[in-house]
This record gives sequence, C-alpha cells and structure tokens, in this order.
Amino acid sequence: MIELPEATIIAAQMNTGLKGKHILDGNRGNSPHKFAFVNRPPEEYAAIFPGKSIGESRANGSLILTDIEPGYTLMLGGGGERIIYHPDATSLPAKYQLYLHFSDETYLTVTVQGWGSTYLLDPAELASHPFISKNLSPLSHSFSPGYFEGLFAMLSPEDPRSVKFFMISKPGVLGVGNGCLQDILWQARLHPRRRAISLSVDERKQLYHATRETLRAMLERGGRDGDYNLYNHPGGYRRLMSNQTAGQPCPRCGAPVEKASYLGGAVYFCPQCQTL
Ligand SMILES: [Zn+2]
Repeated sequence: MIELPEATIIAAQMNTGLKGKHILDGNRGNSPHKFAFVNRPPEEYAAIFPGKSIGESRANGSLILTDIEPGYTLMLGGGGERIIYHPDATSLPAKYQLYLHFSDETYLTVTVQGWGSTYLLDPAELASHPFISKNLSPLSHSFSPGYFEGLFAMLSPEDPRSVKFFMISKPGVLGVGNGCLQDILWQARLHPRRRAISLSVDERKQLYHATRETLRAMLERGGRDGDYNLYNHPGGYRRLMSNQTAGQPCPRCGAPVEKASYLGGAVYFCPQCQTL
C-alpha cells in the first residue's frame, strides 16, 4: 500500500522522468476492477487525455497528485496502486486500470491491487476533494514537538481511542497508514492498543521522534521493501515489524514478533518491548 514514503518517492520520480511528456492517448484501463475508484465514465478519460502533457507531481500524504496540463490533475495513491513507467511497450502488463501512451513511445500504467484510485480531477474538484488533506506533513519543519503535543491536547481524560487509531485515523498523522505505523510503534516501544491519552510526556516525545525518524529512514532507503517505485523496483527499507518478520526474534530483545488483528488490519509488535 502506498503511504507517505512511496508517494513522496514516486512523485519525485515522476517529476524527473515524466514531466513534460506529451500524451498521445490514454484511458481508464482495459480491465474493470470493482475496487478501482474512478470519478468519470471511460469515454471522458479517453477524451480528456489526448494532447495533454504531464505537469508537476507532488505528494499529499499517501496521495500522488500529477497535473495533466492543461486543466486536470490525476490523483493516485493511498491504496494498492502499482504505478509503473514503461520505456517501451514490451513490459506493459496484460491488465491495468489506467494507461497513458506518450509521444516518445513510452508508457505509464496503473494496476490496482486490492483497492486503489485513479481520479481525474478538474480544478474545482481538486480544490474541494475530501481525500486531499490540509494537515501538516510529519516531515515538514512545522510538524514540531509542540504541534504533535497539541494533537494530544484535544483528547479528554476519558478518550477511548488507541494509539493506532490516533496515528492513522483521528486525528491521524498525514501519510501514515497501517503499514508505516508498525515500525514507528516498535521504535517508540508502544503497543498498538495502548490508549493514546495514557501516554506519558516522555512516551509522546518518543512517538514524535519515532514517527519522523522512521519515515525519514523509509524515504532515504527508497521506500519499504514490500512496495515498488515508478521503475518497478522494491524499496530498500527492510520492515522490522511485518508479515515477513512475524514469529522471528525482535531485533532489540529477541522475543518472537507477534501478529494480531486490530482495527481492520494486522498489527505486528514485540510483546516484550511493547507492553500494554
Ligand atoms: Zn523486543
């Protein structure tokens, strides 16, 4: 699933590799997918793309916003989209949910795994789209310890939400989903079910630093090992707490990594380092 590290990397790669390319033709793909979310009928996608160019790309949390100039913005990410550049037609996949054919005979395809979206937004739709967040990026300068502390200040003493819910839902940290969360909580030594309001001042600080350092490490290593970049290469960040490491020794204390279902997704944690 695309989260902040992958969205940031893919947007940067699109700026280097795709910006300025001229679109000959494009469409909503050749294989309808129940969980590929779109906002226009196929004929509209096919009518809009020809003659346009690829403009600037930027990440908004887990989303990738790419201008299709003039007049539109493609919104990808936040789900299981495989966004792949093809230097020629030989590597095109059999099935895809978005297709762009450029004038230099290169291509971009998006294949949705699980669920994902390929929205094509006009300026009014872009300005008001509920998925696009105005929250601060956790890697921005303004995302300070004081700002993070302020998120906790909104909780009442009786607030029931867990630290998992706090981090990925409400209020949520922009671009952090259930994937990046696992290593962040391990670094901060916090159990996913811990009540957010029960965290001490020191634990909140640990969580703040773990969030920034873990996301930075994921970015520096080209994304997480289970996800792919624009050139179809997996990221170099080896996840410590994941389906790949469940049952294996915790890198800190050696206890076997546990897996549990919690809040609509698997959580992986060390039962010794992350106690309840
Ligand atoms: Zn441990």
